[in-house]
Amino acid sequence: MINSTDDFDVVVIGGGPGGSATAGLLAQRGHRVLVLEKEKFPRYHIGESLITGSMPTLEALDLRERLDDMGFMKKYGGTLLWGRNQGTWDFRFKEASDYEYAYQVRRADFDALVMTRARELGAFVIEEATVKEPIYDGDRIVGVTYLRKGDKETRTANCRLLVDASGQSHLLAKRYDLVEYHDDLRNIAVWTYWQGCQRYGGTRAGDTVTENRPAGWFWYIPLSDGTVSVGYVTPIDEYKKSGKTLEELYHSELSQSEEVRALTTGAFQASAFRTIKDWSYTCTRFVGPGWALVGDAAAFIDPLLSTGVGLAMRGAKGLAETVDAILAAPETEERMLELYEQDYRDFLYSLLDFVRFFYDRTKNKEEYWEKAQDTLDPDRLRPKKIDFATMLSGVSGIHEIFHNPDVKPMDRVRDAEADAA
Ligand SMILES: Cc1cc2nc3c(=O)[nH]c(=O)nc-3n(C[C@H](O)[C@H](O)[C@H](O)COP(=O)(O)OP(=O)(O)OC[C@H]3O[C@@H](n4cnc5c(N)ncnc54)[C@H](O)[C@@H]3O)c2cc1C
Repeated sequence: MINSTDDFDVVVIGGGPGGSATAGLLAQRGHRVLVLEKEKFPRYHIGESLITGSMPTLEALDLRERLDDMGFMKKYGGTLLWGRNQGTWDFRFKEASDYEYAYQVRRADFDALVMTRARELGAFVIEEATVKEPIYDGDRIVGVTYLRKGDKETRTANCRLLVDASGQSHLLAKRYDLVEYHDDLRNIAVWTYWQGCQRYGGTRAGDTVTENRPAGWFWYIPLSDGTVSVGYVTPIDEYKKSGKTLEELYHSELSQSEEVRALTTGAFQASAFRTIKDWSYTCTRFVGPGWALVGDAAAFIDPLLSTGVGLAMRGAKGLAETVDAILAAPETEERMLELYEQDYRDFLYSLLDFVRFFYDRTKNKEEYWEKAQDTLDPDRLRPKKIDFATMLSGVSGIHEIFHNPDVKPMDRVRDAEADAA
């Protein structure tokens, strides 16, 4: 039972994948968690192509079998028409880890599933509840006010820790002025859904196809209901220079593309266009007294390597472990949150650096593989093709807080303190 003013261990702002996964994993550990989500789920969201970096979190939530049962399209890898004169090439997830496949998902269904799972695990979730303001005790956040749809008065929820998973609404980041945009990745995306597309055969049927164009690129994401999400991404300046509307630009680029044009030949457009400015950014801080950011609330790289949900899910698992340790030993909060931020940033920056390199379409595939090797495997212990698959799977750069069940977060705090002494 939730009263209008109530106390929780953790309040989570936003019930997207980042928020619901964090909440579910904390509730699973016996904590009293409240998720406040401003929309009514299922709700539309872009970001349909998952990478295997999401799988450990989905497994921790016991969702693996359900994802298979729900019939989401299995994605075993990706096909690329990318770089200098080399035709299509590809990578397979199984080259990188034991996770053979991830999924292509309608986000409305996927996000509703993760939210449902959070409820099953014991988290309280209130939809159509918009968080308005943090509540402070000195400079420490100790709760939030929120407004439920139809109410005139805000309500209060108190918490020991606040997780901001509000995505690009940036509830806390706006308040603290934390968002720093990456000027070289100021893109705009326009997309729609097609029906009747050609599909690859066998385990390539669920591949994301990524095709470069002189001033942008296409994604082609096959979904299980027979539709395909096809989007075009280009720098804002290129769009303005083109003198075309976004729809005109999309059709003109599609008609000149190779692989995506071939795959959409004979297909029909099954929905209206959607568009978003997908500017890349990182927040200057991910944590503070009584609060932490996760998912898009902390950073968004770029749609190019489909890393968004993977980052949110990996961050959620790391944050749940961190918060669990803090709730058991509150005196470690500052150091634990620092470690969380440090690990999250290490992983994030390796992806961001790679995306920037990958955007240079004058390279060939061996050069992309080499870049992945330089980043992940500088001693060259594995073939560079495997390092590339590892980078695109989002299973790289994993630090203890994120994945190693043998290293407990508290041990890291002790080690760090011993190093400092
Ligand atoms: C063009 C484009 C293509 C992309 N393609 C991919 C892809 O193929 N694969 C991929 O993995 N990622 C992709 N992404 C990124 C992906 O969409 C995001 O990274 C992902 O949704 C982040 O999850 P999240 O839980 O952090 O945020 P969200 O999914 O955005 O969830 C945030 C939630 O917070 C709620 N909220 C906001 N403010 C409040 C408030 N004040 N009170 C209560 N609730 C609030 C929102 O309603 C929302 O439900 C793409 C992004 C773009 C822009």
